[in-house]
Amino acid sequence: ERRLDVQLLETIEQALTLLQSPLRRINLQLALQPLPPLSANETEWVQIWVNLIKNGCDALAQTQAPTIWIRSGQDEASLWVVIGNNGPPIPEGLLLRIFEPHFTTKRQGRRFGLGLGLAIVKGLVESYGGKLAVTSQPAGTEFTIRIPKHHG
Ligand code: ADP
Ligand code: MG
Repeated sequence: ERRLDVQLLETIEQALTLLQSPLRRINLQLALQPLPPLSANETEWVQIWVNLIKNGCDALAQTQAPTIWIRSGQDEASLWVVIGNNGPPIPEGLLLRIFEPHFTTKRQGRRFGLGLGLAIVKGLVESYGGKLAVTSQPAGTEFTIRIPKHHG
């Protein structure tokens, strides 16, 4: 069910509140430029941010000065949000596979990842006519969501 006029930055705030505990040891750098309201389902957007930010927390378990950054902005036709972290890079051979349902590297020790988060995020983003992209380098990993301001 879609609702009108969701303030995406408010859904990011909601996700950050839900993730208070895993975020406690992580530096958070927010560079949030205003976004236009989006005709959207608020719950879906909270789910998108929770999945991406939680993945960032997971990736930072062994990192010194663990940091997550979130940036937003817009241009004429679209809005974008970047969620990054300074954890170890994703090996190039895995970069495409991480979006596959059930693909996870979190099956070591007591960890148990379902491998569904990114597949769900990708499906939701595409349902808004948008794109989900990843880049991963020694300096960190960034997921970028780009959404057309007007869709269908
Ligand atoms: P899960 O978190 O249950 O493993 P996801 O679909 O959310 O499933 O992510 C799939 C895989 O993508 C993860 O297991 C991990 O290997 C990789 N991944 C996702 N986000 C990041 C990130 N920010 N940094 C490094 N690897 C990541
Ligand atoms: Mg996940």
